Amino acid sequence: MIVTYPFSAVVGLDDLKLALVLNAVSPRAGGVLVRGEKGTAKSTIVRALAAQLPAVNVVPGCRFACDPAAPDAGCPDGPHEPGSQGLRRPAALVELPVGASEDRLVGSLDVERALTEGVKAFEPGLLAAAHRGVLYVDEVNLLHDHLVDLLLDAAALGTCYVERESVSVRHAARFLLVGTMNPEEGELRPQLLDRFGLTVEVKASRNPEERAEVVRRRLAFDADPGAFAGRWAAEETALASRIAQARARVPGVRLPDARLRQIATVCAAFEVDGLRADLVTASTAIAHAAWQGRDVVTTEDVRAAARLSLPHRRRRDPFDAPGLDEALLDELLARTSGEDPDDPDGGGPDISGPGGPEGSPTSAGDGPPPPGGPEGGPEGGPDGGGPEGREASPGVEGTTSSAVDDGAVPEQGGGPGKEAAGRVAGVAAPYRVPLLEVPGVGEGAAGRRSRSRTPHGRATGSRRPAGRVRDLHVTATVLAAAPHQLRRGRRGPGLVLREDDLREVVREGREGNLVLFVVDASGSMAARKRMTAVKTAVLSLLLDAYQRRDKVGLVTFRGRDAAVALPPTSSVEAGAARLRSLPTGGRTPLAAGLARAAEVLRVERLRDPARRPLLVLVTDGRATAGGDVDRAAALLEGTAAVVVDCESGPVRLGLAVRLAARLRARLVPLDSLADLGSVVRDHRKAV
Ligand SMILES: [Zn+2]
Repeated sequence: MIVTYPFSAVVGLDDLKLALVLNAVSPRAGGVLVRGEKGTAKSTIVRALAAQLPAVNVVPGCRFACDPAAPDAGCPDGPHEPGSQGLRRPAALVELPVGASEDRLVGSLDVERALTEGVKAFEPGLLAAAHRGVLYVDEVNLLHDHLVDLLLDAAALGTCYVERESVSVRHAARFLLVGTMNPEEGELRPQLLDRFGLTVEVKASRNPEERAEVVRRRLAFDADPGAFAGRWAAEETALASRIAQARARVPGVRLPDARLRQIATVCAAFEVDGLRADLVTASTAIAHAAWQGRDVVTTEDVRAAARLSLPHRRRRDPFDAPGLDEALLDELLARTSGEDPDDPDGGGPDISGPGGPEGSPTSAGDGPPPPGGPEGGPEGGPDGGGPEGREASPGVEGTTSSAVDDGAVPEQGGGPGKEAAGRVAGVAAPYRVPLLEVPGVGEGAAGRRSRSRTPHGRATGSRRPAGRVRDLHVTATVLAAAPHQLRRGRRGPGLVLREDDLREVVREGREGNLVLFVVDASGSMAARKRMTAVKTAVLSLLLDAYQRRDKVGLVTFRGRDAAVALPPTSSVEAGAARLRSLPTGGRTPLAAGLARAAEVLRVERLRDPARRPLLVLVTDGRATAGGDVDRAAALLEGTAAVVVDCESGPVRLGLAVRLAARLRARLVPLDSLADLGSVVRDHRKAV
């Protein structure tokens, strides 16, 4: 038998522990998204919590974990006799691998068998397995969009629904959803972020003693899991019973009007969208009150709930990291807390002894002493208040712009590191840009940019399947079978189908691409006060790439050489940050920029061959240093490209136009980028 690491033995990570426990107490808390760096024991603690969940009673033989007391009426394995003898088993912990197929997640309906044998054959997927347990998705931000949608729909409805060619199956799927993500690897789309009830930011502790204790316990556990777990058995039992008691208490917890108004005030002040935040905060505050052994929700409960339910709902711009200004939260709560006479604030009687101070569900009784105990408490964990947060707001015109022409900024002779410091232009508010596509049809990862063949797109035709049919094209199959019916001896109704007749759907959708920006940051751009416009354009294109699920990279050139400012990544935030701080000035080594881009693309082609690149070259076409442009351009032969022409002023040389022709690139003048984008938007509004 596998021994899991005891929940009570997890050091620190108080916010995460609290968020998980509140979900165990009340499913209405809506799941947890855990954000943080790798190696912070996220999966250990989720497993540990699953082991703490009350065991479930299931109908024997039912693959959908029906409760004998109230079996699912539509259960595919049913109907079950209500009130039959149940079987107790631990709540399930199911892990959804990032590369899972749709069938694996929702189950597979064998349409082939349904058609040829006339039986409805449904193989349950992971959602069925997770029913009444925990569904854990490590790196949820890397999960296929389509799977995320299915997953969150099921989580929201508590039902898994599978339909293939009008044969459908539906079964209950209620689970505690826990996702983890490393923000460095790319953000979750805001609308998906919003579907997680609570968010927690985790960081490995910076406290040496706490770190040492983590390692000490881990070593002890690995050396002898059984003995280690035995030492924590009392804490674990106490925790399990405290969770069970809190669960039982939830239905009786009262949410006074004053507290509800407080929640509404806080949510309004933090400018969250819609009412979902209010709802989750209220439910979580109720769970917290129950967890604390209270029958009435207090300001303290509202505070604990808001800290977990709001950070990810107040993002305005996808480049803003989630976070919550706790000073503001406290101020709002203080302003609104005095109104409730029956508020027994100040941590009422704790129902079951071991639960220590607020917010640290595990600092428990007599076991091994929790190290650095005071550290964990109300001080508030890693996402404490503001300073790290907000970047200077965009929209301020840059401070660049004294006229600096080519080469006017002196270059200090030394190596590439000794480049002239350059100036940093500001960035204005991003705007919508037109869709820039890679021509042809690709087979890259799902996204929203270029056309691609994909299992999830729109049906565009049929073909003979290469292996087993996964996506049956009924009409084409029937048409293929029809001419042979007489010869096959058909009598009466029903087609006589042979395997040979089966046709599958050909689908087309959109893929994400690698958008490699190659940006001229030389003095010729700064001279014409263009750099703010250029940066804003690239920022807008980056925002667009984010929405289209592209990978992005950034090559810049100025002075003597080109540099990879951002190697290809899914983290558009990183791109935006590099762009904001990008200095400009110096000569214009265009050829070096092109050569560096070709090199980046070559490496990336090896790494991720299915992802087709789109080169976006932002330049005025001038070259005043380093290398032969024609030769460098030849290295990019065959790469889809767009040239954003930054030339301006009354006298134009048309250099970018010529460069675009050489690269067979689409040419978009910098100034028309915003206009083209708004045309797209207006058109969309019109339809
Ligand atoms: Zn059942």
